[in-house]
Amino acid sequence: MDKFLININGELFNEEKAKISVFDRGFLYGDSVYEATRTFNRIPFRIQHHLDRLFFSAQKIELELTYSRKEILELILQTIKASPHNDIFLRIILTRGTNIDLGLDPELSSKNNLIIITKAITPNPDWWLTKGLSMIFHNKKSSERGPLPKTGKYLENILAYKDATEKGAFDSIMVNTAGHVTEGTTSNIWMIKDNIIYTPSLQDGVLDGLTRKTLIQMADRNNLMLQEISLTQEDFLGADECFITSTTRNLVPVTIIEGRPVGNGLPGKKTLELLKMYLEFVSLQ
Ligand code: PLP
Repeated sequence: MDKFLININGELFNEEKAKISVFDRGFLYGDSVYEATRTFNRIPFRIQHHLDRLFFSAQKIELELTYSRKEILELILQTIKASPHNDIFLRIILTRGTNIDLGLDPELSSKNNLIIITKAITPNPDWWLTKGLSMIFHNKKSSERGPLPKTGKYLENILAYKDATEKGAFDSIMVNTAGHVTEGTTSNIWMIKDNIIYTPSLQDGVLDGLTRKTLIQMADRNNLMLQEISLTQEDFLGADECFITSTTRNLVPVTIIEGRPVGNGLPGKKTLELLKMYLEFVSLQ
């Protein structure tokens, strides 16, 4: 069986056959936006929110859409239907289009290219929950603030990830130029101190993660104390518990930061309770 099923502008391919022009602006300039999501038993997770964020990202980079929201949704649903798997990972990439010549001018581009890459979801490794992750801090050079668009521009995150793996850690916790903690390279970051759940404010330059949004909603419904505020490296080093979130990984405990144990160095009890609660919460959606 093929590992991937890929939809390119409405046509389905396996990984061998899926090809896109070298003049595509996503390839040439990172001139694209994207979403990463999953299905739970063939139902796409919070798809309307993902489409909202895709449109927000496109608007932020002034990427003119030649696909309507309805067409994008139909192509997503067509791909899910054609997949042999019930639980799949989906990457939905929308590029400004294929250039008719080299050059930055967006007017050189044709219609958007919409690429949906899918594969079966691989379960999180057990050790993530029994041992937890180790992270380091990484200073960002860019001074972007506010909720970030999800674009093809991931170089800073790639370098932050590389920095972490070269130092033997799982990933980096990125810190903005004002010294405020922002997020992981492909996840949002959280800490718990004295029973209060904290996550960095979107204003510090953070992706408005859908797992983040869902957890905030869940906390609100269950009267859990949660704050979105600016947080420092010292706050994280003094936390009782820490964890990351993303759509494909849910909640994963972080037990070591900069080589030092978080709390007692074991996956946090409250984090694991929140994970259980989260999985129940999303299954009810
Ligand atoms: N932050 C960054 C930079 C990401 O790339 C991602 C996911 O890809 C997230 C946060 C988590 O977002 P979500 O919960 O929507 O998957």
